[in-house]
Amino acid sequence: MTGDIAPRDGGCNCGRIRYRLRREPLTCTICHCHRCQKRSGSAFSMSLVVPVEGVLLLAGEPARTERVTPSGAVNASFDCPACQSRLWSRREGGPTLNLRAGTLDEAAGIRPVAQFWTSSAQAWAVLPEAEVLTYPEQAADPAALRAAWRRLRAGQAAITP
Ligand SMILES: [Zn+2]
Ligand SMILES: [Zn+2]
Repeated sequence: MTGDIAPRDGGCNCGRIRYRLRREPLTCTICHCHRCQKRSGSAFSMSLVVPVEGVLLLAGEPARTERVTPSGAVNASFDCPACQSRLWSRREGGPTLNLRAGTLDEAAGIRPVAQFWTSSAQAWAVLPEAEVLTYPEQAADPAALRAAWRRLRAGQAAITP
């Protein structure tokens, strides 16, 4: 799989929020944690990690909600105030945001290179460990996630044998 993902547009379900992804994502991951299951009403969430300047707002103003993590960091999430679609989240002061991949108008062909929190996953939803980096809880090393993404985008296997 090769080729650029950016630029491409996305938005919420009702169309009030529109954005343009204008930087290449740094990696793509899915999360099986209970919080993501609750939030999505599904088995996992899927995120593209993007530099914060990589998402340009074209229309609308997302509503911001905050959650303070046990370590004291502030995680902000940005949702459509009308239809409640979750668009992205970010750690306050951090250089990247997590764009919800499914909010792109065209997300076909974008696949994750890592999965987190398999300890709380639905068994049928766990991807083969030979194909993606797999972590029982949160991954600690962002460099490994980015290296796997570069391999995948260059047409190689995400995981080196
Ligand atoms: Zn909306
Ligand atoms: Zn999660």
